[in-house]
Amino acid sequence: MFKSLSPLPPDPLLALIDLHRADPRPRKVDLGVGVYRDERGETPVMQAVKKAEQRLWQEQRTKSYLGPGGDLAFFARLRDLVLGADHPAVVAGRVAGVQTPGGTGALRLAADLVRRSASDARIFVGTPSWPNHVPIMATAGIDCRTHPYFDVAMQSVLVDVMVAALGEGRANDAVLLHGCCHNPAGADLDAQGWARVEKALSARGLVPVIDLAYHGLGDGLEQDLAPARGIAARLPRAILCVSCSKNFALYRDRVGAILVVTESAEEARVVQSVLESAARVLWSMPPDHGAAAARLVLEDEELRAEWRAELDTMRARIAGLRQALAAAGRAAGLKLDAIARQKGMFSTLPLTPAAVEGLRRDHAIYAAPSGRINVAGLTLEDVAPVVEALGRCAG
Ligand code: PLP
Repeated sequence: MFKSLSPLPPDPLLALIDLHRADPRPRKVDLGVGVYRDERGETPVMQAVKKAEQRLWQEQRTKSYLGPGGDLAFFARLRDLVLGADHPAVVAGRVAGVQTPGGTGALRLAADLVRRSASDARIFVGTPSWPNHVPIMATAGIDCRTHPYFDVAMQSVLVDVMVAALGEGRANDAVLLHGCCHNPAGADLDAQGWARVEKALSARGLVPVIDLAYHGLGDGLEQDLAPARGIAARLPRAILCVSCSKNFALYRDRVGAILVVTESAEEARVVQSVLESAARVLWSMPPDHGAAAARLVLEDEELRAEWRAELDTMRARIAGLRQALAAAGRAAGLKLDAIARQKGMFSTLPLTPAAVEGLRRDHAIYAAPSGRINVAGLTLEDVAPVVEALGRCAG
């Protein structure tokens, strides 16, 4: 049966984890893996989440099945956090959705929904993007149309190119957008760029699929969510794929949700049934533990405030590292200023594969082959040696 199969290449980032782990050098810097790290280089469980887990452990009486929608109270809390309880679509009962296994699960359900809505469904994806975006969409049978989004050499978003690409869209085509903290570019649309994209979506009847995986790690939770909220308020339809992996640090617990803003409450009921049916086939129901803990955090005023403060500390640490990198770059005569303007965990530097290899071989600095660096993988102490190594390898 398996004779016709050929081996597939391993994920280059996962291969990097193994290389980093096996590196015996005492001072090594991992800028490859996409997880937040604190100043000690750790990815801890957030205190608010830990307290919620303790409460769950004491109070949870059953682990019996929930439905394909997962924890409905978690979903409602997350919807209100992301869109706002007073969002017009929420108030009008026009938001369908379910809890999903992480943002990946939400994207997979979004793909299913788009595909079930139209057999000739297409999705526009700007490049570079998170490497899983196109495979998720393509595996669901959607025709992926890519267009350049980011000029790595210039460190600028190609809004004109993007708007021109969307001008080729047909009604009901989907458009994948990064809600904030673009992975891997770190460069988001500015207000004017968002307005132009929204106009293009509206003019062509395109449906945005907004990936929200890093809200809270850019300018702050409300600011990071503002573009998605605005689009979801002004366009008749929008799909939001939400991950709690980074901003609740729940990575392996697989927590997320898909929110689908529809044109009417009646349409929301239909979409709800389609999402539940699709989830039932894909994973029957999402894992509960992390979502239940996140629900407790969101329900409890004290835990919620503690979580927001922890998230803010993470955000401030990343912003501080970005400023420090740019300043050290200026002192060394390197052009790293864009890093300070960019948001979230990632930036993509104009590094050749040879430069990336040199960083690893000669300096024990691990970056993705694409030149993407995880800024949160640095400590403040690492900044000077990393910038010096960049000067040697990339200069
Ligand atoms: N979207 C983007 C842009 C991401 O970077 C990631 C994870 O790295 C995801 C979605 C999926 O996250 P999750 O681990 O919650 O599935």
